[in-house]
Amino acid sequence: MSEFSLIRQYFKSIAHQRKDVLLGIGDDAACLHVPNGMELFVSTDTLVEGVHFLQTWDAYDIASRAVRVNVSDMAAMAATPSWVTLALTMPTADESWLKRFSEGLTKTLNDYHVALVGGDTTKGSLSITLTIHGLAPSGCLIQRSGAQIGDCIIVSGYLGAAAAAVCQLNQQTIDDASLSIMMHKLLHPDPRIDLIDCLRQYATAAIDISDGLAADLNHILEASHVGACLSFDAIPIHPLVRQKLSDQALDYALYGGDDYELCFTVPSSALREFDKAGIEYYCIGRVEPQLGLRMTLPTGEVMPLEAKGYSHF
Ligand code: ADP
Ligand code: MG
Repeated sequence: MSEFSLIRQYFKSIAHQRKDVLLGIGDDAACLHVPNGMELFVSTDTLVEGVHFLQTWDAYDIASRAVRVNVSDMAAMAATPSWVTLALTMPTADESWLKRFSEGLTKTLNDYHVALVGGDTTKGSLSITLTIHGLAPSGCLIQRSGAQIGDCIIVSGYLGAAAAAVCQLNQQTIDDASLSIMMHKLLHPDPRIDLIDCLRQYATAAIDISDGLAADLNHILEASHVGACLSFDAIPIHPLVRQKLSDQALDYALYGGDDYELCFTVPSSALREFDKAGIEYYCIGRVEPQLGLRMTLPTGEVMPLEAKGYSHF
């Protein structure tokens, strides 16, 4: 199968059609319309076999995860995801793999109303790079450097299930039903695009939790030249992880990545608005002038937290 028939069969016709795609796959570049008053956000994520996924995974799941982690970066910037390009490197043109990959890509891109507008296809070790583009109204830029002293630190949902699943892949110690719920979190994380409006209105800084809460929150703290104190009792550990893996549960929630919930800071007055609007949130602590990351234990003792998390090098 030639490179060009492969692109035509598995990628050209698949994805969500959008009116703002003036020219999609098939030319030297795509042409996309950015409406007046909007700003363009661009982000890239690569998934490498053996690092981000295993050879045994269904290509459908790999595609789903690739799209979701990219959409999550747009959610963290409060940008509405719009278009992606795909750089696919694979050792052979395995048609059964390509079919599943293309199905997963189609379904997930459609779910988020994102169009595949171009890419590149090359031979080599299996790796998948998506570059995502998103839009937000001018003046809505939320940066990691914006956290203010006194702000509340919010986490958007439960943490720890995806990291627990990764550890269980090495050695399974829990029942199959629990593992399958945790694996679902790892393979199909739900990027929090539902919070985009809320972030635009209230957030002073935001990040998506890909490498672990401690490490990712620390990026906000360092960029903002502030510190934080978290409350042990407020960390939203995934209930199943708490129940099945109680000894490691806090570690997974603080230091395990892959959940793709959002961590953001807001003035404390925003919490009333969240309550009124019925937005689910976990206020895990406060931004403080004293640099570094700390946690108050149930005993009242304050413990320093290492900003460790996943790091490739
Ligand atoms: P060029 O040689 O001009 O760089 P290519 O031959 O690499 O173009 O690609 C032809 C067309 O197919 C381009 O529009 C490109 O964006 C698109 N394309 C190539 N690979 C992919 C892919 N994996 N997914 C989506 N579009 C792709
Ligand atoms: Mg060209």
